[in-house]
Amino acid sequence: MYLSKSDYLMGLDCVKALWLKKNRKEIMPEYDEATLATFDIGNRVQDLARDFYPGGIMVEAETWDVENGSILTKELSKKHNVLLEAFAQLSNGCFCRIDILVKNDDAWDLIEIKSASSVKDYYIDDLAFQKYVFENAGYPVKRCKVLHLNSDYVRYGALDVKQLFAEDDVTDAVLQKKSEVEMYVKGMLSYQAMPDEPEIPLHSSCSDCPFYGYCGKDVPPYSIFNLLRADKADAFYNSTHSCDIKDLPLEYCTTDKQLIDRDCFLNDKIHVEKENIKEWLNSLEYPLYYLDYETVMPAIPLFDNTSPYSQVPFQFSLHIQKTPGGELEHIEFLHQERSDPRRALAEALVKGCGKKGSVVVYNQQFEKTRNKELAALFPDLSADILAINERVVDQLIPFRNRYLYSPKQNSSASIKYVLPAFSDLSYKGMNIANGGDAMNKYLAFLNGSQSEEESKQMFADLLKYCGQDTYAMVLLMDVLYKWADIK
Ligand code: SF4
Repeated sequence: MYLSKSDYLMGLDCVKALWLKKNRKEIMPEYDEATLATFDIGNRVQDLARDFYPGGIMVEAETWDVENGSILTKELSKKHNVLLEAFAQLSNGCFCRIDILVKNDDAWDLIEIKSASSVKDYYIDDLAFQKYVFENAGYPVKRCKVLHLNSDYVRYGALDVKQLFAEDDVTDAVLQKKSEVEMYVKGMLSYQAMPDEPEIPLHSSCSDCPFYGYCGKDVPPYSIFNLLRADKADAFYNSTHSCDIKDLPLEYCTTDKQLIDRDCFLNDKIHVEKENIKEWLNSLEYPLYYLDYETVMPAIPLFDNTSPYSQVPFQFSLHIQKTPGGELEHIEFLHQERSDPRRALAEALVKGCGKKGSVVVYNQQFEKTRNKELAALFPDLSADILAINERVVDQLIPFRNRYLYSPKQNSSASIKYVLPAFSDLSYKGMNIANGGDAMNKYLAFLNGSQSEEESKQMFADLLKYCGQDTYAMVLLMDVLYKWADIK
């Protein structure tokens, strides 16, 4: 059986995941749209990063054709100093493909391209495995490096590839993993060939695993993994093999929020703190401006004055309400061209938000930070934009602080949980149902990978989605008034 680099990294996370990947392929879910979008970003970054090592020779073999790829790499390595997508394989079944292989005197440097803007811990494991394979395949390795996006780069004019990327030498950290890799490779090769599925208890990070649908099929929608901190949930599950909150002794809940959430779940009741809600409602100044942004974060900066992964707002929705429970006015902005949306958005925002009245957002950090960025970018609008920030009121507070809590929230204060807990409105079935969808689809539009028809549909979906986000806040305001017995 083979062991690829991605198998090795999966095995480091969980050997059961590795076993399932090798032995129960049929239960591995298809990649979702978000994952495919991440792959697309990775491919675009890879293409650009190769310019960092000009003159590189591509090892032209299909990813699955390790045998031929390795032979070709060997031949090309005799004549060229820079190889792209170079293969190596070992007789024990281990194989990998390094992004860039560079001759360094009588040895080689391994360069791994990453679309992140910093070096993550698992990149060291990634390179440690590749070093193990390449060295044992006859390529002595001198240096191991990560070529990643440079968060300090700010685009002005044409893209400067030399500045867009930063190269970190991680050789020392990789060397420290040498004996560990040999041990783990041996263990994983025998583990994955075992006839029986390994017994690994569920743990808090399982929800990120592609096999969670299989391993976690008996976990209820609301469990100890929602209620408790990861270490406590894991300790409880390990000792009892139960994730049911009904089995959880009271002493595991050490915060007021956990005690409220547990009590509401066990007694199927809503928790309400009327005086706190009233105090929060009294802080509002009408008219209210319910505001929500959508942003896009291109890995490769598309506009001047942006860096890798800068948040670029391209849309907002604004519901305006003059009196509690009163009529609504709706203003919306959506940039439907491939140019920088920020100037037009900032002007529309200043015009739409007026001069007085609370600006209601859900999770103020996000909107306030975007506003500060816009203010810094457009000095002539700065005072008006910063004045909007002075008027911001955060509707997350009454829900996060448990002034009002429904067991249907599953211990979350996210609007995606709070809204269906207190109203019939939900995001289910919408073509764009969360900020990640909105971001990925708008990025596809900016990158020119959508048809005109698809873009037209996406604009309609975006308007519906962002409009619902602010309308949801209007509904939740009514909910707060109702539970505070104000109307
Ligand atoms: S869901 Fe958890 S236990 Fe199951 S394979 Fe994934 S990480 Fe391992």
